[in-house]
Amino acid sequence: MKSRLLFLGPPGAGKGTQANLICKDNCLLHLSTGELLREEVAAGTELGKEAESIMNKGELVGDLLVLSIVEKRLSNSQEGWLLDGFPRNLSQAKLLKELLEKISQPIEAVLLLKIDDQILINRMLSRGREDDNESVICKRLKVYREKTSPLINYYQTLGILKSVDGCGSVEDVNSRIKKVLD
Ligand code: ADP
Repeated sequence: MKSRLLFLGPPGAGKGTQANLICKDNCLLHLSTGELLREEVAAGTELGKEAESIMNKGELVGDLLVLSIVEKRLSNSQEGWLLDGFPRNLSQAKLLKELLEKISQPIEAVLLLKIDDQILINRMLSRGREDDNESVICKRLKVYREKTSPLINYYQTLGILKSVDGCGSVEDVNSRIKKVLD
């Protein structure tokens, strides 16, 4: 099993759920920038205050702010890792590349979870997080299409992209993912 991974896919695709399973099974460090940002917001830190209103609008928090969150944890990690929700645009992908070169830990595989827009919207509406109302969801899908989806091509060109169908039960998707990452 590969041990330096990146999960890519639209909001609501199930990245977090699947990333949790893969990390538990393989003792990988799970780095979800969305989760880490929500923790900063809940703790009321300066960084959290800066991020909160941006997140509630469905926009992207600043590249350098997110990078600093990831860098701190990756530089200290001795084990494998899984990045979930980062990078989210080409500029973050380039910053990540520089960071990984510096610490000599290249990405081994990028997993793309593919899923239909209508399923995404239904999943997010039933999840009920603060940024999960209809207008913010539409904004996040738009940001995904415009800013994040160019990364599919970027990683495909590097020859490390693997695609998996994200429809179906958690278990079904999990076994598809395991198969492509083996
Ligand atoms: P989802 O996958 O459902 O969009 P996340 O938990 O990954 O949810 O992210 C929630 C919000 O956190 C995003 O809409 C964005 O505002 C912010 N965020 C998370 N990761 C990043 C990132 N890499 N760059 C900028 N903003 C981010």
